[in-house]
Amino acid sequence: MKNNSEIPFPVISKNTKMFYPSSRVCPICNTDRHSSNSGFYVLNAGALEEVSQETLMMSDKLKGFLKLAYHPSEDSDENGFCIDIVKDSECGQFDIYFCSTNCMRIFFNKIIDTIENKKNKHKI
Ligand SMILES: [Zn+2]
Repeated sequence: MKNNSEIPFPVISKNTKMFYPSSRVCPICNTDRHSSNSGFYVLNAGALEEVSQETLMMSDKLKGFLKLAYHPSEDSDENGFCIDIVKDSECGQFDIYFCSTNCMRIFFNKIIDTIENKKNKHKI
C-alpha cells in the first residue's frame, strides 16, 4: 500500500489471517520490516479465554474486533456509523505491523480521515 492510497477496511476479517499485512511489508511505506534491521512496531489487541485461574489461552470461540464509531446526539436525526478496522478476527486476537512510529501514525490518521470523510458525507 502506498502512502496516499486507501486502506482496505477491515484490514483483518474472518477471511484473512490474524495479522496485517500478511507479508513482511509495511502497509504504509512498503518497507520490508525485516530487511530494515531496526525492529518494528505492533498494534496487538484482542481477547483470551480464561481456562483456569492462572491460564489464559487463545480460543476459536472468540472473534476479535476493532472499530471506530460516530454516535449522534440523542436529539439528532442523524444516523450513527462505524469503521470496522478489524472484524471477526480468528481466535479473538490480531496484530497490525508497522516499520516505524511514523507509519503507525499515518495508519491511525487514515482511520481518522476515513471516519471524518464518512461523517462529512452524511451532512449532505
Ligand atoms: Zn512503513
